[in-house]
Amino acid sequence: MAIGMQQSAPARVERLMINLDTMMPMMCAWDDCFKNARTPYQVRLHEHAGRCNSAEAQYGRHAHFVFCSERHQLYWLASSGNNAHRTAAEHGGQIYGMLPAGLRNRI
Ligand SMILES: [Zn+2]
Ligand SMILES: [Zn+2]
Repeated sequence: MAIGMQQSAPARVERLMINLDTMMPMMCAWDDCFKNARTPYQVRLHEHAGRCNSAEAQYGRHAHFVFCSERHQLYWLASSGNNAHRTAAEHGGQIYGMLPAGLRNRI
């Protein structure tokens, strides 16, 4: 079981994140924030074993989160890291499907 976080490379142009199902701008994933998310501030969460393209990875998934600003991305990373550790302790090392509560706007 491996879990890791990878931040996307910084981009110069900040564009709004659009939900392709609704064609509406996506909101920041930070709890108290209702601003629109922007493209440079994305987090991909690896909820799978092994490397992304390995055989084990097909049994897991990726979760994507988007934010309005670097500040909120960092807030989220800090809190989700703590939550992940606590969640893992409570569930015997299992993190699958047990993301921190209160998160919304998953792609
Ligand atoms: Zn991955
Ligand atoms: Zn925000």
